[in-house]
Amino acid sequence: MDFDKINKLLIGEPAFRVQQVARHIWRDLIEDWSGATTLSKELRAKLAEGCSLEIKAEVFPDKDGPSATASPEVRRAGRSAKALITLEDGLSVETVLMRHDGRNTVCVSSQIGCPLGCSFCATGQMGFKRNLSTGEIEEQVLFWARYLKKEGERLSNMVFMGMGEPFLNYDNVFAAIKALNDDNLLGIGARHISISTAGVIEGMERMAEDMPQINLAISLHAPNDELRQKLMPIAKKYPLANLMAAAEDYVGRTNRKLMFEYIMIKGVNDSDEHAKELAKLLSKRLFFVNLIAYNQTGDFVPSSPAQIKRFKDILMKGGVQALERYRFGQDIKGACGQLAGK
Ligand code: SAH
Ligand code: SF4
Repeated sequence: MDFDKINKLLIGEPAFRVQQVARHIWRDLIEDWSGATTLSKELRAKLAEGCSLEIKAEVFPDKDGPSATASPEVRRAGRSAKALITLEDGLSVETVLMRHDGRNTVCVSSQIGCPLGCSFCATGQMGFKRNLSTGEIEEQVLFWARYLKKEGERLSNMVFMGMGEPFLNYDNVFAAIKALNDDNLLGIGARHISISTAGVIEGMERMAEDMPQINLAISLHAPNDELRQKLMPIAKKYPLANLMAAAEDYVGRTNRKLMFEYIMIKGVNDSDEHAKELAKLLSKRLFFVNLIAYNQTGDFVPSSPAQIKRFKDILMKGGVQALERYRFGQDIKGACGQLAGK
């Protein structure tokens, strides 16, 4: 499916006709032009000939759900599914659906691969292929909206935590969010949309200006520059002092809560000392931390649940709001941030 082709085919059509097409695609979630019943037969035939609505994808569902022996968090997390979508140029992109507590969240990719090369991240280790277009970002969401419709459900949330760094593809990500947020289309509420960044400061500044209603998350993963630079090469470009100043500026401008993600890697960033250092860094109004057990994709090992709890207690004592979060989709090896497009 190629949104650009559809737009080209609609050049010269009146605005209301273009809106009808958009409604068929995004509200009726048609998968083939025969369902576009408000259009003339001629236009339908022209569209059918010029551009298929098919999204080529392979789904890897977690049919059975988490096993009975899984931890309570995992069982509560419910069913996830991963899809591999083949794009027009033959490259493929991964997207994940996470279903929990009555919410259906799509985890979208913004790039194929990622140029930032974080050492713990499967996407980072595969290198960078290219940015995704606005339409290719939208297509991932449309795919799951159609999938859920067949089960009588709707998509409620969307997070940019798939492959890639969204702020290195800012314009396309922003355009996709605007479209997906549009009430005449899918209408996903701004407060139900989140962007996770490795800390690209320019992107944070633009976001505070362009879309202050959307949730921001910063991948921190270390409480000091030395360790952060080892894990995330981008930390050399944006030292913590600058990143934290930008974070405070963001909260000052938007008055929104700001989430810091911290994956817990055994013996690397999970000591009591690290927790104390982190508490100093983050004990600010409207900051909070999500502690996430590292999902083993390479040589690192996840922290023990007991150490995660200790770490959390130290943060709380230090005046930092901290939550432990299960990384959805562990069961299908397709959790956010762990996609390698294989
Ligand atoms: N590039 C952005 C968004 C995509 S990654 C970013 O880095 O924030 C989404 C999240 O998944 C990030 O917090 C990332 O650090 C995390 N992540 C990457 N690999 C992971 C792994 N193996 N286990 C758990 N979280 C991981
Ligand atoms: Fe890129 Fe995010 Fe993975 Fe780092 S963690 S390599 S920024 S996708």
